Amino acid sequence: MLQLVIASNNSGKIHEIKALIQDIELLSLSDVGFFGDIEEPFDSFEQNAHAKADEINKFCGLNVFADDSGLCVNALSGAPGVDSAHYCGMRNDDLNLHQVLFELQDATERSAYYKAVICLIWQGEVHYFEGICEGTITHDKIGTGGFGYDPIFIPTGHSLTFAQLPLSVKNEISHRALAIRKMVKFIEQRIAAGQ
Ligand code: IMP
Repeated sequence: MLQLVIASNNSGKIHEIKALIQDIELLSLSDVGFFGDIEEPFDSFEQNAHAKADEINKFCGLNVFADDSGLCVNALSGAPGVDSAHYCGMRNDDLNLHQVLFELQDATERSAYYKAVICLIWQGEVHYFEGICEGTITHDKIGTGGFGYDPIFIPTGHSLTFAQLPLSVKNEISHRALAIRKMVKFIEQRIAAGQ
């Protein structure tokens, strides 16, 4: 079976991605013997996704992809954005989402979107796939599923947060699911073409 490395240590992301990809053997960072932290020092999703995929591709030489993603709140000029993972100053999902609720405490305009950019390094070539999921920010934390900002994000067309909705629903409409489906389609086309 075809092998592909996920360049991520984020268990929430990996759980979602595994439910979206069949017929490809997904290898974790520990499967390829990488136990360090991956740097993501840039101020764009594309550059960070590339930095992660590139580091792991150079480490193991296999086909690899990385997702760089985040929550962009319109009333906060797109923040937390690329700083989503450590918006409060550290990697703490609960403190991060409370930071957003605090900054929006007086806001009536609460629209936001999740964005995911996947960088795939396939046979040495670099390819990008993007997904966006629009929604609104709640006034309180609601639900226990998902990860990150899911307890404060209601996707457009729904009345529950991503932390309340089942993963099957999130994986129909999420930013990550859209980007992953584009990547899988690309890989299937390359395989069909013998590349
Ligand atoms: P990074 O891509 O490793 O920089 O981290 C992405 C961060 O964005 C996560 O740690 C979460 O805080 C947030 N994020 C990205 N996608 C999601 C999602 O689907 N649900 C909730 N939070 C997300």
